[in-house]
Amino acid sequence: MKSVVLLGATGSIGKSTLEVIREHKDKFYLKGISVKGKNPETLRNIIDEFKPEFVGVVENINLSGNFKIIKGKDCNERLVEEVEADIYVIAISGIEGILPTFYAVKKGKRVAIANKESIVSAGRIILQEASKNNTEIIPIDSEHSAIFQCLQGQNRSNLRRIILTASGGPFLDTPLEELEKVTVEDVLKHPIWNMGRKITVDSATMMNKGLEMIEAYFLFKLRPEEIDVIIHREGVVHSLVEFKDGAILAQLGIPDMRIPIAYALSYPERLNLKSTTLDFSSITRLSFNSPDYNRFPLLKLTREILQKEEDYLFIALNTANDIAVNAFLEGRIRFLDIYKVVNKTLILSKPTNISTLEDTLSYTKLVKSYTKKVIEDLLAKTN
Ligand code: NDP
Ligand code: MG
Repeated sequence: MKSVVLLGATGSIGKSTLEVIREHKDKFYLKGISVKGKNPETLRNIIDEFKPEFVGVVENINLSGNFKIIKGKDCNERLVEEVEADIYVIAISGIEGILPTFYAVKKGKRVAIANKESIVSAGRIILQEASKNNTEIIPIDSEHSAIFQCLQGQNRSNLRRIILTASGGPFLDTPLEELEKVTVEDVLKHPIWNMGRKITVDSATMMNKGLEMIEAYFLFKLRPEEIDVIIHREGVVHSLVEFKDGAILAQLGIPDMRIPIAYALSYPERLNLKSTTLDFSSITRLSFNSPDYNRFPLLKLTREILQKEEDYLFIALNTANDIAVNAFLEGRIRFLDIYKVVNKTLILSKPTNISTLEDTLSYTKLVKSYTKKVIEDLLAKTN
């Protein structure tokens, strides 16, 4: 029996993780969870069904029962520190995942990571800390899980490149002049995946793929030129690895996050999962196209930043995007402003040496203040 701590239990990845645990109650039990506190009813249902011993909540909501409550902004860190578990699943969204992930990799156990933002901002430090403590980091992000699976049993020196597939989001064919007017509602209609709000916006700008390039750069220790992106609308091929002889391995399957989650929990074993058979007769075609950098300027910007391999730029990009996406979701800025805000913030972000977690957090704070100022200036200009 493996014990699991799940940070972000009420979210999209959180729910899929619970489905896997529910299907394999003989192998896993939920020892601790954390949430922000926005969905108290879902939280109550999870507690009633899985009976975790520890519950972390950021917000001050009413909660009682036969478990230990850890409340407050630092509840994730305290929960991870206090609770000994075999697997820590990081399913919080956004840059708030940085600190909890760092604490989790200190434990010397397994970290199943969905939160890509923590790897983008603090990948170098998190991976160093993981290797110091003998912690296994297993990706949940479907593309990274695909690559991780394709690399099993391979000699890394034979790798030529990885190819991340991207659905392209809801605006792949929208006339460019219409992007000006798209609403939050339009953005939240993703053609393939049903995910949390932040990652759904990132999919529409394709910043999600940008973040995933940096995530892959750190997780698989790649050079920027070894990372490619291709648009694959059907969401069947989850990513590919090309070796030096030209042979390519891909991982395919239905678009269901239970598959990479189950693999991250059970690796190197595989779990039986219901209703995951891919019906090949329903696939009429599989298409692959190069991304249009004009349509997706954030992807282009990320590519340029990746080439520079500077941690301060990764933090600036990721933080500015996080704040800009939230401003868009709150209806304060328009869809196309997300890029403008990120780009302006990057211009303000001066080179800084990042070698510790403290450096990462203080630079994140600085970039947040720049981004907020850029947004205020933009609003002042449009009003
Ligand atoms: P959601 O927005 O659906 O869920 C976020 C979860 O985290 C909720 O349970 C939320 O609680 C909780 N949460 C937010 N902030 C905190 C905090 N400070 N402390 C504790 N809990 C917190 O996000 P997703 O599940 O879509 O995404 C999670 C992460 O996984 C993201 O980094 C995303 O990029 C990545 N990912 C997601 C995929 C997907 O299919 N959804 C695919 C690949 C990667 P509450 O309900 O109270 O708000
Ligand atoms: Mg992904």
